[in-house]
Amino acid sequence: MTAKLYLNDMYLREFDAKVVAIEGDLVSLDRTAFYPTGGGQPNDTGFLVTDGISYDVADVIKVGNDVGHRISSSNLPQPGTKVHGILDWNRRFAHMRYHTAIHIIDGVVNRDYSDRGLITGSQIYEDRARVDFDLPGITREMAEEIIGKANEVISSNYDIYAREISSEEAQRIPGLARTAPGRELIRSLDMVRIIDISGFDLQADGGTHVSNTREVGKITFRSIQSKGAHNKRVEFVLS
Ligand SMILES: [Zn+2]
Repeated sequence: MTAKLYLNDMYLREFDAKVVAIEGDLVSLDRTAFYPTGGGQPNDTGFLVTDGISYDVADVIKVGNDVGHRISSSNLPQPGTKVHGILDWNRRFAHMRYHTAIHIIDGVVNRDYSDRGLITGSQIYEDRARVDFDLPGITREMAEEIIGKANEVISSNYDIYAREISSEEAQRIPGLARTAPGRELIRSLDMVRIIDISGFDLQADGGTHVSNTREVGKITFRSIQSKGAHNKRVEFVLS
């Protein structure tokens, strides 16, 4: 199983590791800071460097409990090779800011609108993100009001931590997972990783986040569109 360095040190940009296996164009390492696509957060990109050769990491995916690094080169570093991994930090840090922004928006909805609906999904990009609301009657004005409240949370300079708690403890925290599949997952795990925005918002999560809300910047509403019978998709950007 690949040791997932990004879970404990979300600011790790470079690391040393050893190649343990290759399959097709996928390289597995004993440890990695490269985030594999999942939970609405896209994969990291970057380089694996060894003996003066630099391999492009074009994609990173989960392969069971391992992490596969897709290398765009005809000759791959062989098992046993020591490599130095370097992340494209601008891309990753943008993902972290957008991911935390989504949790803050979700936290506002959970705090102020939970009697009316919830957020059912989200997707992060390098330059924008979208959130799907199942909030009957939501208008552009309401979406902008939610984003305004999220910006107030950002200005509160809350620290953000990742930590692990037992499944038992996780099941006792109301709203830790806000969808049925999320609650199911919490029941099935031994330990649950949570992202804690200083008590403002607690969510079970496997992604990477900034360490203080101020690093998110400012959220600006971009668009709202209908998605199904009572779902609305809201897109926003950060500055
Ligand atoms: Zn998340």
